Amino acid sequence: MTSPLRMLLIDDNRSDRALVLRELQREFDPLEVKEITSSGELNRAIAIDDFDAVVTDFQLRWTTGLDVLELIKQRYPSCPVVMFTNTGTEEVAVEAMKLGLDDYIIKGPNRYIRVPIAVRHALERRDMQQRAALLEIRLQGLLNQVKIGIFRSSAEGTLVEANRAFLELLGVKSLEQANAINWFDLRDSYRQLIHQAPPQQREREVHLQKSDGTQFWALLTITLNTIEGVTVVDGLLEDISDRKQAEVALQQLNATLETRVQERTQALREANRDLEEFAYSISHDLRAPLRAIQGFADILLDDLGATLDVDASDMLRRIVINAQHLDALIADLLTYSRLRRSEIYVEPVDLSSVLAEVVTQLNPNLTQQQAQVQVNESLPTVRANRLILTQVLINLLVNAVKFVAEGVQPQVRVWTEERIEAGETPVVRLYVEDNGIGIASDWQQQIFSPFTRLHGEAEYPGTGVGLAIVRKGVERMGGQVGVESQPGQGSRFWVELPEAQEP
Ligand code: ADP
Repeated sequence: MTSPLRMLLIDDNRSDRALVLRELQREFDPLEVKEITSSGELNRAIAIDDFDAVVTDFQLRWTTGLDVLELIKQRYPSCPVVMFTNTGTEEVAVEAMKLGLDDYIIKGPNRYIRVPIAVRHALERRDMQQRAALLEIRLQGLLNQVKIGIFRSSAEGTLVEANRAFLELLGVKSLEQANAINWFDLRDSYRQLIHQAPPQQREREVHLQKSDGTQFWALLTITLNTIEGVTVVDGLLEDISDRKQAEVALQQLNATLETRVQERTQALREANRDLEEFAYSISHDLRAPLRAIQGFADILLDDLGATLDVDASDMLRRIVINAQHLDALIADLLTYSRLRRSEIYVEPVDLSSVLAEVVTQLNPNLTQQQAQVQVNESLPTVRANRLILTQVLINLLVNAVKFVAEGVQPQVRVWTEERIEAGETPVVRLYVEDNGIGIASDWQQQIFSPFTRLHGEAEYPGTGVGLAIVRKGVERMGGQVGVESQPGQGSRFWVELPEAQEP
């Protein structure tokens, strides 16, 4: 239920009161009207403050409407007061308006109806003013709470408004002080923006100085707004010193990081080189005593073979076999480590001629295994190092005829494929396909690392370094290696190298 509108109706004339009352009752429901006919009644009513609006006559026996108005506005400045009179003059009306009168109506027939309308308008105006005042208070409160400086200046660059954060940012207490320290020339921004199409806004990072001389970085956003025909400069000022400091620190860190990475890489390279030198010389040095062991074991076998019992000659044979294996391993390691260390020269190499050479070189091995090797005719020329490429192809072919199931005749096919990708150097992919035991997909990457072997020495002898040599060698020549295979379905190893361009 809405609460009733409470009114004071001040008029000595009973019939006028009755007429006004009737009109008020028509307009407002619910309504409570207190009729006042003496100063005592008026003072009591004012003291208890239980009314929302006042309608008063000007001519009263005990006072004037102006005094009533003054009395009420003094205590309740926002309380609407409407004067309804037949005795007032224009001067009285002006005087009354100055004192805060909300409306003035001349008494007369058919004019009573105007009183409630005037009261309603006055009430609405008061409500609007109250709402506006509340909004203003809330807005001011908000503006003062935010950490961002908010200001408005004239086109000439004079600050006309600013919130607390803005003053604090500049280290000043008042707008006058802010204007006095010349914190930033807003006229320039105005001149630049005024010729710009909407939105006339600009954001920039500025280095500013507080009133005490300390400097700070701020993000200044400026917008031109036109209010009632006057263009003003509205702005936001945000302290970004922390962010700037972080940026500078990051830049410095990046700069030092680069040199630190270079230093570390260099140190690592040196350490690696030392290690490789060491491995190389150890491998080298191991070969001489190994050869001696091999040689003496051979001599013993030759000279005493017939006189030795079965166990002793078997042991000697094993010494020879193990020494051979160790020798092969050391040879492979030396090749691998040489590949890592030495400078590599690449030149156009004809694949057909290298393969012919490799097949000839492996001929005894291939014949012994009754292997068939089919090489496609007229293979292209690639950019490679001939010696390394020879070693790579030997290792691939040896594996292709080695990792074959028992009783199966090894069959190897070699061919190439040209691969051209837009914007890239054309490459040649050489395939070596066998009908061997195949490789499970889990192992297809790892077999290219040194010492990865999927079988025992008795089943398939080897050092586990052959494919590592293949990969390192191909990579050093600027190429790539890979394998496609399935267990029991043979393997297809591939080597990709840049194609040699026609001169
Ligand atoms: P090694 O041949 O001396 O064992 P590699 O580095 O040449 O060493 O090969 C590593 C492993 O990869 C081999 O032990 C074998 O298990 C597997 N492998 C290599 N080539 C083939 C092939 N053509 N078919 C099946 N398995 C292969």
